[in-house]
Amino acid sequence: MHETIIIGGGPAGLAAAAYAVRKRMDALFISKGLGGRTQRRLLLPWVEDYQVMVGAETIGRFQTQLDYLDFMRVRATVSQIERLDEGFRVTVADGKQHDAQTLIIATGAVGERLNVPGEREFEMKGLCYSAMTYAPLMVDRRVVVVGNELLALRGVAELSRIATHVTLVADSDGDLDTAAGQYVLSHDNVTVRRRARVVEITGDDYARSVTIEHDGQREEIPADAVFIEKQLIPNSRLVENLVDLDACGFIQVDSRNRTSMPGIFAAGDVTDAMAFQVLMGLGDGEKAALSAFDYILGLGGAPFGCEK
Ligand SMILES: Cc1cc2nc3c(=O)[nH]c(=O)nc-3n(C[C@H](O)[C@H](O)[C@H](O)COP(=O)(O)OP(=O)(O)OC[C@H]3O[C@@H](n4cnc5c(N)ncnc54)[C@H](O)[C@@H]3O)c2cc1C
Repeated sequence: MHETIIIGGGPAGLAAAAYAVRKRMDALFISKGLGGRTQRRLLLPWVEDYQVMVGAETIGRFQTQLDYLDFMRVRATVSQIERLDEGFRVTVADGKQHDAQTLIIATGAVGERLNVPGEREFEMKGLCYSAMTYAPLMVDRRVVVVGNELLALRGVAELSRIATHVTLVADSDGDLDTAAGQYVLSHDNVTVRRRARVVEITGDDYARSVTIEHDGQREEIPADAVFIEKQLIPNSRLVENLVDLDACGFIQVDSRNRTSMPGIFAAGDVTDAMAFQVLMGLGDGEKAALSAFDYILGLGGAPFGCEK
């Protein structure tokens, strides 16, 4: 039985694994791939590669720390997690089983797709799923954001400070009429197309416009970049019967990345903590590893910092 199994090879899982190794924990690292969502980079016609610092470079440092640890790394998809009397059993797709006293879940989240013509074709070529990451590159640009919930409103709020113009396309009212929504949408350079449906994304080498349908009319909105900011869907199904999830399926964690189940820790985008960026995922992963280490040492409930 291992001391910990870390599931997920994105920033959170890589940081947790590197930290667990530094602590000389008997750790097993299981992931479908390495790098997670940072493997993808948005290409924009006006941005040269050297101008952007991307997450992939940051996590490369962590990855190299683990490269020589082939013996404790399994490249596989986890299909099931069960509770044992003294820990947990992780089953991977080919049926192999691995047991551990603790688990660190760092399986990330995926952006909901629109599933319209042009979306796949222009994905990461002017179209992407992370306004938070790429907003700083939108100086003097016109952008379209698609979505109607807080994720989209956050994206619009950030972009409206940088871009020339932001058009929000919302298929229903969602959070638009909340106080936060009204505030975000009151900016002069923000236009809203309510109850409008995206029917197509068009362009050349890059996405260049979004065609929408509203009130029975079609409209083509030119765009330098398109951000699909619908829901993020957490990859939490593996532990849905073991730990508490919030209403959207994110794993609930406390400030030490402990879940409701003693011995299970979670980090990064799969949690309800504020994450969605590489640096936050890295910090979260390290905290989860530290908490798992504490748990193994029998210090799981002990205070940290102030000892009173
Ligand atoms: C297009 C795009 C570009 C981005 N660029 C940046 C950027 O430049 N800078 C930045 O700060 N942030 C960026 N972000 C946000 C950042 O990528 C995420 O916040 C970060 O990757 C989250 O890390 P994570 O480890 O929690 O999850 P992820 O990176 O999503 O990694 C999850 C890992 O878990 C694995 N996994 C999932 N399910 C299973 C399973 N059942 N079995 C085994 N393995 C599994 C996956 O293969 C993956 O390796 C970007 C996001 C997107 C969508």
